[in-house]
Amino acid sequence: MVAQVILKPGKERSLLRAHPWVFSGAIARAPKDVRSGETVAICRADGRALALASYSPSSQIRARVLSFDPAQTIDASFFEQRLSKALLERELMPLSSNAYRWVHGEADGLPGLIVDRYGDVVVAQFLAAGAEAHKAGIAQALLALSGAGVVYERSDADVRALEGLASTSGALHGELSPGPLEIEENGLRYLVDIRNGHKTGFYLDQRDSRALLAEIAGERVLNCFCYTGGFSLAARRGGAKSVLSIDSSGEALALARANWELNGFAGDEATWLEADVFAALRELRDRQRQFDTIVLDPPKFAPTAGHVERAARAYKDINLLAIKLLADGGRLMTFSCSGGVSIDLFQKIVAGAAADAHVEVVLERRLGAGLDHPVRLAFPEGEYLKGLVLRRAS
Ligand code: SAH
Repeated sequence: MVAQVILKPGKERSLLRAHPWVFSGAIARAPKDVRSGETVAICRADGRALALASYSPSSQIRARVLSFDPAQTIDASFFEQRLSKALLERELMPLSSNAYRWVHGEADGLPGLIVDRYGDVVVAQFLAAGAEAHKAGIAQALLALSGAGVVYERSDADVRALEGLASTSGALHGELSPGPLEIEENGLRYLVDIRNGHKTGFYLDQRDSRALLAEIAGERVLNCFCYTGGFSLAARRGGAKSVLSIDSSGEALALARANWELNGFAGDEATWLEADVFAALRELRDRQRQFDTIVLDPPKFAPTAGHVERAARAYKDINLLAIKLLADGGRLMTFSCSGGVSIDLFQKIVAGAAADAHVEVVLERRLGAGLDHPVRLAFPEGEYLKGLVLRRAS
């Protein structure tokens, strides 16, 4: 018998709509001795079981649902089945890359688990107590299902602390070759630093938007927050004659340069600027520079809903500056990966920026993460990345 966690009356509503999180405030009582990551039954106030979930004693998200069938057995083969299903789904997706997200947490029925595949190397993040508790079995299944040579853990994301888990990373199976590994995406080659790169090494979620940029890039391109040059290379492939890329990280820029060379692009067509984008955009404005295409892909300005106001000001600031730098008919590809900022709010912020810049812009497209980052309608929190393509009306 699994331990029973009893909800307060009425607090079963979100579970009945298949939302997978149980917040601490919804719980009437739970046994004292439940371990971190232990599987528990989530029960209504009247005692009827609704779901099986992983318990996390120190997190606000006190339990994450593994199955809405209370009779399900949660063991190694349960995880293997979910992983296998997620892999099969990816194999049927038109991803144009040997690097993709294999598991996107809750959206794949595997709460707190992120798995990215880079060819022969599988990188996993165990970000919640349940995923952590089942790590050994999950790693074994990742190896068996993929036939990969290496399973590498990058559980060094800040969110681990909210679950009472320490930061950890390293090989779980096999050994990573020294230096970055190489992937291919839409005909471009990229070096990825699995050990120290952001997230699991690469922003796989922007694959479709990079492909779109390769179709619409103009001659003069500005790529802000360029990281390892993903959008810069895509722009060059799309026919850009000059690409100015800005990032505050020297390490990211070094890999970006290496990526540019790896693809045989001429060095004099690229400028790499180690700078703060907020300051650099002001300088470009003062020098009256103009660009045909601008990409703004900043880091998360609002990690939680509590930071939204400050984040909104930051988004407005950079978008206003970027809109002013657009040549007539030029395009801005602008993103927010803040979970607390909805697409509607983001569009309002950018509309405010355009109004303040006295520039008329046309919304051409809304963008999001690729198919390998699925969004369940029952779990809107999974839809963190949103983007807009705007054209300056001439
Ligand atoms: N567009 C990239 C991902 C961007 S991630 C891709 O597709 O691969 C965000 C990047 O912003 C990181 O590389 C980080 O180093 C950089 N960054 C964060 N704050 C910054 C700032 N104020 N100025 C410049 N770069 C910044």
